[in-house]
Amino acid sequence: MEEIIRVENLTHTYGEGTPFCRSAVQDMSLAIYRGEFLGIIGHTGSGKSTLIQHLNGLLKPTSGRILLGGEDIWSDPKKIRNVRFRVGLVFQYPEYQLFEETVYRDIAFGPTNMGLSKDEIDRRVHEAAKILEIEHLLDRKPKALSGGQRQRVALGRAMVRNPAVFLLDEPLSNLDAKLRTSMRTEIIKLHKKLATTFIYVTHDQTEAMTMGDRIVVMKDGVIQQVDTPQNLYDMPCNMFVAGFIGSPQMNFLDGTLQKSGDQYTVDLAGTTIPLPKEKTADGKLDAYVGKTLKVGIRPEDIKDDEEFLEKHSTSHLNAEVEVSELMGAEIYLYLTYQGQNLMARVAPTSKSRRGDKIVVAMDTNKIHLFDPESEKTLLN
Ligand code: ADP
Ligand code: MG
Repeated sequence: MEEIIRVENLTHTYGEGTPFCRSAVQDMSLAIYRGEFLGIIGHTGSGKSTLIQHLNGLLKPTSGRILLGGEDIWSDPKKIRNVRFRVGLVFQYPEYQLFEETVYRDIAFGPTNMGLSKDEIDRRVHEAAKILEIEHLLDRKPKALSGGQRQRVALGRAMVRNPAVFLLDEPLSNLDAKLRTSMRTEIIKLHKKLATTFIYVTHDQTEAMTMGDRIVVMKDGVIQQVDTPQNLYDMPCNMFVAGFIGSPQMNFLDGTLQKSGDQYTVDLAGTTIPLPKEKTADGKLDAYVGKTLKVGIRPEDIKDDEEFLEKHSTSHLNAEVEVSELMGAEIYLYLTYQGQNLMARVAPTSKSRRGDKIVVAMDTNKIHLFDPESEKTLLN
């Protein structure tokens, strides 16, 4: 895979020298490959926008480098304008950007500034409008558009510049849920059609999980993990990623690790659960025997049906149902187990209801263990 952008030890500190300043992005390194769809996720304030504004030279690193096609974008500050054309940033489409008379002129704004011929501009505007299915809107006033139409125009504005990379910073966050889902599909289609690099920033993990080839998970200006959606889900590197990826989120319980012979077990408030031998054979857990760890288990790996209970006979827990929510295709059970909260996603045929004392089982193959201090993963 060909690398298109490389982030090297990037640190950005706003208002350096002022008291209490913390770097918005800290010593971050990342390779981005040509043609990929890269998701960047993290809570608000985790440094996502700061990171991507470096990728097209809108912000200058406090330290570290951004390489575009192997070249440091700040090696010649006079060339930074070119970088901004090669790496197109699509923001949310806010009111203040709606300054042109017509959608056509709005989309043509970038290429006009690039000094392209009228014919070439016209060709590009129509090509973009056709792909985005907004040709019929070109004569309209931007202010008269709906949210979804505006978002397409915002994409069109970037497309006509033929950027090598698209940066999309939370482009759908001000749209309603239904429109967001359909625009999401549109953006994936657009990526397929254009076959260029897309970098998509969102605080919504579902959005990133369904769109990205790879995902960067950020927290407090630091990359936690970069991987495919499936690997982030199955093999999170720490408790933050484990809890952030997946909805409803992973359960975390306190459990004491024990070992007898070559069999490790976790003691969950009095219930002893054996861990699969093939996953623990490397002996890496030995240093933790006798310690209380964080035990992670996803809601879909806890069930209450007969078949599951029989199959997972070594991991039964007696729990009480606090709330049972019918979600259509499944039921969410909010349980308490020895004073700890536990959520299970069970079959819609489940008879468990509020107030019931029930037995659930965990799929021990799906148990994760975390170091309670460093929060790093010990077992996936
Ligand atoms: P995100 O996009 O993930 O929400 P940002 O990159 O916008 O995060 O912000 C990261 C941190 O930097 C936050 O603490 C934010 O308050 C701070 N920050 C962002 N922009 C500025 C700015 N222009 N001046 C000072 N601090 C800023
Ligand atoms: Mg942001």
